[in-house]
Amino acid sequence: MIGFNVAPFTGREFDYIREAIRQEHICGDGIFTKKCNQWIESETGTAKALLTTSCTQATEMAALLLETEPGDEVIMPSYTFVSTANAFVLRGAVPVFVDIRPDTMNLDENLIEPAITERTKAIVPVHYAGVSCEMDQILEIAKKYGLAVVEDAAQGVKASYKGCSLGSMGDYGCFSFHETKNYSMGEGGALLIRDPEKIETAEILREKGTNRSKFFRGQVDKYTWVNYGSSYLPSDLNAAYLWAQLEMADEILEDRMRTWNLYHKLLKPLEDAGAVELPFVPAECRHNAHMYYLKTKDLETRSRLIAYLKEKEIMAVFHYVPLHSSKAGQKFGRFHGEDRYTTKESERLLRLPMYYGLKEEETRYVARMIKEFYEA
Ligand SMILES: *Cc1c(COP(=O)(O)O)cnc(C)c1O
Repeated sequence: MIGFNVAPFTGREFDYIREAIRQEHICGDGIFTKKCNQWIESETGTAKALLTTSCTQATEMAALLLETEPGDEVIMPSYTFVSTANAFVLRGAVPVFVDIRPDTMNLDENLIEPAITERTKAIVPVHYAGVSCEMDQILEIAKKYGLAVVEDAAQGVKASYKGCSLGSMGDYGCFSFHETKNYSMGEGGALLIRDPEKIETAEILREKGTNRSKFFRGQVDKYTWVNYGSSYLPSDLNAAYLWAQLEMADEILEDRMRTWNLYHKLLKPLEDAGAVELPFVPAECRHNAHMYYLKTKDLETRSRLIAYLKEKEIMAVFHYVPLHSSKAGQKFGRFHGEDRYTTKESERLLRLPMYYGLKEEETRYVARMIKEFYEA
């Protein structure tokens, strides 16, 4: 059986978790959390990175830091994970969904401006499959209308756009270290903060509304309740697990890239024959092999292909029922403009097994079985 995902594991996780225990510091912001924060900062060039308990909570922090209020509108794609919308819905804001580009599955940058109203607060680009949205245009629109940009870079660790790391270009960027992502701590994420002046407020928000971070740095002699906040910091045990992978981030990336490139090469003849469509990566984007997908002709073909692969012991999956067609999406949000591609493309997309350590012969087997399906 070839699974769809296997959580990344390098072997050093046990040593680092043991080390966290030996340090007698297993709560948040221990040595491993600091290492991870610093790694993200030097990797992406962001002013500050703070490890969080999930990407969902990093996005919730961003919504709070922007002082999102009931009735505010937030422009985002409908083809995304629920957390992109939930973070803002929790503050009473209205997700305004715009259509995606069929080539990258990212929100169509040309549809943002027509969706702006006087209630618009922010734009939330989601970098699907670690392939960047058209950030130059998005940042320009944001500047023109005085809007914030929160990048959902859950899938975008170690990917870039014109040399800039995903997550570092908007006001806030959100990473995920969930076990299905390239680098993992089980459940976890990070908030990237571009403006140094926002760091202190973010630290307070993350530490239950206290100035404990300042206290630990010796900048105040006692810590106290200074603002609203919650608990968004993960245990150092989880950070220790993550550190074992960040330390080997390039090897993990190279391994995934090999799989991605092999799929791409082996499936190319099927694309040339018009049977499937393969992922497109614009020239200005460097992706991170987060995902390999193909698109079938239609929903019916996809269902048959999934069943066929399952018979061959291969787990291939699809995702994202477009948010605007979900129960909560209809209740809390609205779609602006026409749904030309969101529904249609989401019904054709199929994700193939992709994880650190997937063997070459397994990748070849998956590609061969897909070919066999189309030959039959
Ligand atoms: C995985 C994912 C999330 C949520 O990440 P968590 O760390 O599980 O909260 C949000 N947005 C996108 C696009 C994702 O892929």
